[in-house]
Amino acid sequence: MTVLALACWAPAIAPAAADRVVGRVTGARMALAPQSPTVFLGDGAELAERVAARARVPPIPGIVWVFHHSNPACPAPACAWPAMGQLWLQATLRVRTIEDRFVVLHELGHVFDYRQLSAADRARLAVLLRAPVWGDQQQPTIGSEKFADAYALCGLGLSLRRGWIVDEYVPRSMRQHRAVCRAITQSAN
Ligand SMILES: [Zn+2]
Repeated sequence: MTVLALACWAPAIAPAAADRVVGRVTGARMALAPQSPTVFLGDGAELAERVAARARVPPIPGIVWVFHHSNPACPAPACAWPAMGQLWLQATLRVRTIEDRFVVLHELGHVFDYRQLSAADRARLAVLLRAPVWGDQQQPTIGSEKFADAYALCGLGLSLRRGWIVDEYVPRSMRQHRAVCRAITQSAN
């Protein structure tokens, strides 16, 4: 049994420190997968691109900033500020392990939620995820965390039979898990 535990922080408003760092980034590299509409910018762009390119979930349209160094405002292994299109990944994070790829995809899931899901998508997914409250960008709650976990697990293509479990998202069966992954794919259309 492998536990993918993740303490995540996904508030709406980027702190002043984030703004300063964004302003300092110059000559940001651009990484664009052949079939992906996501444009990753920032010093963590290459890392995020490597994870996103292999993910079995719909990509995020538009620009996503990825910073790969510590942020005092991020008290977790990784943080997302979806409204700003920003991810912060701790400097110690690499993408050599499936756990690290899970962390990156979880945070990307928060941005996908913000940009791509309609109210109808969230209502449908809330039922599938058994999430009574979705939350919003001011206060991420159980629904949005379950969704981010599901986005990551579906993206990694992990089989529940192999014993992968995650913090918030615990599907009852492979059938339910497949339904969740299918709903995520359909929400991109
Ligand atoms: Zn989260």
